Amino acid sequence: MYKIAVAGTGYVGLVAGVCFAEIGHQVTCVDLDERKLELMKSGVSPIYEADLEELMQKNYSAGRIDYTTDYKSAYKNADAIFIGVGTPEQHDGSANLSYIATVARQIAETVEKDCLVVVKSTVPVGTNDKVEQFIQDFLLHDVKIEVASNPEFLAQGSAVHDTLHAERVVIGTESEWAEEQLTKIYEPFHIPIVSVNRRSAEMIKYASNDFLALKISYMNDIANLCELVGADIQDVARGMSFDQRIGSKFLNAGIGYGGSCFPKDTKALEYIAKQNHYELKTVKAAIDVNKEQKTLLYKKACRRLITFNGLKVAVLGLTFKPGTDDLREAASLENVPLLIEQGANIYAYDPVGAKNFAKIHPEGENGNGTITYVSDIEQALAGANVCFIFTEWGEVKAVTPELYKRLMRTPLVYDGRNIYGVEDMQVAGVEYHSVGRRPVV
Ligand code: NAD
Repeated sequence: MYKIAVAGTGYVGLVAGVCFAEIGHQVTCVDLDERKLELMKSGVSPIYEADLEELMQKNYSAGRIDYTTDYKSAYKNADAIFIGVGTPEQHDGSANLSYIATVARQIAETVEKDCLVVVKSTVPVGTNDKVEQFIQDFLLHDVKIEVASNPEFLAQGSAVHDTLHAERVVIGTESEWAEEQLTKIYEPFHIPIVSVNRRSAEMIKYASNDFLALKISYMNDIANLCELVGADIQDVARGMSFDQRIGSKFLNAGIGYGGSCFPKDTKALEYIAKQNHYELKTVKAAIDVNKEQKTLLYKKACRRLITFNGLKVAVLGLTFKPGTDDLREAASLENVPLLIEQGANIYAYDPVGAKNFAKIHPEGENGNGTITYVSDIEQALAGANVCFIFTEWGEVKAVTPELYKRLMRTPLVYDGRNIYGVEDMQVAGVEYHSVGRRPVV
């Protein structure tokens, strides 16, 4: 059993902390946000993730996990401190490392025994070296500190499952001691461990995320071409998926990737390449395709309608993908302001993301238009002139083509997730525009 402290209780830190407690370690989760900590102590998760709350409650009752803002007490006697704070994108595309630096300073000033510091956050290659040097520079007590890289590969929406049943754990270390500590910490998960040096571990994370971003953008690029030449991207993807060299995952075309990772990690790697006087052409292409893709449906709708002014616009799905309440880089965030600017009256439905979205676009008048949040899809569709689908929530997929025809004033649907069969929409009498497939007009 290891005494573990985790800095940051976001998607990565909280899930890691809870899963470490679940396999028997003694965990203290640290965050600066008092409100979050009060929630967690009362057994409520500040983020939406399947199974997370149950495991929080179970391990809190068992005394294996605690939450605090008092980092000093959490860090001073820890065997290992995992850093899971944010590394958001800066204006120039580089990663903002100020949160990491703050935690490193806090660690240096508080640790009173030998300790392994583990960077879980996604950081540019070479950052672990700097974090180690930074801690050494500010260390108050005479103790041994080493830094290891342990990038996180969970996907939001299935974060707990991805952690407990990870396909691999990557550890980047510079000494046998650090490698042994991390191996022991992860042993109870019974997961293959890939042990490399710190810089390779940092690169594995970016290279993996950017490869997936590339795969998505490649399919979106092909989808746009399919539309022009009369092919169907879903048939094309199906045909490709049987080839095991390609695989069946991440072949869905749509309105682009979002979330907190792919957009920032593609830009960060491009920035790292630039710093090293190298042009990373493939990743740059993924970024460019994704930017265009986000507003593809809006532009299609603009060509079809004279104006959105005074129209009732149903928006189904606000989060960047199903299973999460995270809105970072979601397609809705690009499209809703464009629709509002045009005077649309938006009726938005999302099973968990509406509350967060309302913090950015409060209910009521918004500039030239209005926005209303509804708790059932029928309310959004009733009398609507046009509908946009931005997230493929199960609830949205369950809407039948007939319902659009029956409830909408004009059954005109722009589907950013290719949920429906083109023929099914045609049979139901719905005008239907999707990505990489023939329109039904
Ligand atoms: P997040 O923004 O959800 O959470 C970060 C948390 O850190 C916040 O709760 C914040 O209050 C807290 N924090 C900031 N400074 C702190 C400090 N000094 N001490 C303690 N807590 C502090 O971030 P996230 O989505 O969990 O991502 C964290 C890192 O993991 C990023 O580098 C990200 O790229 C990477 N990552 C994220 C995912 C994902 O799916 N979200 C997956 C893999 C890797």
